[in-house]
Amino acid sequence: NNSTAPPVRLVVLGDQNVGKSALVVRFLTKRFIGEYATGTEITYQHDLTLAGTPVTAEICDATYCKNHQTSLKKYVGKCDAYLIVYSVCSRDSFEYACSLAHDIRLSHVKSSNQNGLPPILLVGNKCDLDHYREVKRSEGERIANTLSSCYFVETSAAESFQRAEEAFHLAFRLISLRYQTL
Ligand code: GDP
Ligand code: MG
Repeated sequence: NNSTAPPVRLVVLGDQNVGKSALVVRFLTKRFIGEYATGTEITYQHDLTLAGTPVTAEICDATYCKNHQTSLKKYVGKCDAYLIVYSVCSRDSFEYACSLAHDIRLSHVKSSNQNGLPPILLVGNKCDLDHYREVKRSEGERIANTLSSCYFVETSAAESFQRAEEAFHLAFRLISLRYQTL
């Protein structure tokens, strides 16, 4: 790859055990392996084309931080989009995702970036486990609608490569749209 464009940076955040690693691995390898290393942050490189230009995406599978401020310090201002994942089977993980999304949005508004806000994609994962569902689709949609530049999808890393791919493609498309308007 001889691309000269700077890398685009995507960070995947959220509570423990919601399927962050499963989604990233599904997108990159098309496979669901069921068990993933925990405790270490891994950044993957993935080549793609954005608006006709070859670029490298750096996808960071972040480790869970109990304290949001730790996540904010580490990632805010350093990435082009946020994937915030929760499990539709865990109300706690949804609340964690909502408050993280809210804090991230707030921190951007404070720094009053005139170039528009880096997009947040709120991801309700494990939608295959419908009989254990604790969070309605409409609740995720509603939160995304209340935050600026925030979008929503549901995925199942376990059952669908296509949905995982759609989530990442949406994030890349949103990054690309933002750059075209800068
Ligand atoms: P992380 O801590 O957020 O990175 O979560 P992992 O990716 O390690 O996944 C946690 C557990 O949930 C693992 O046992 C996965 O196999 C399982 N898992 C992840 N995504 C899904 C999903 O979409 N559906 C189901 N049923 N299980 C999932
Ligand atoms: Mg993980």
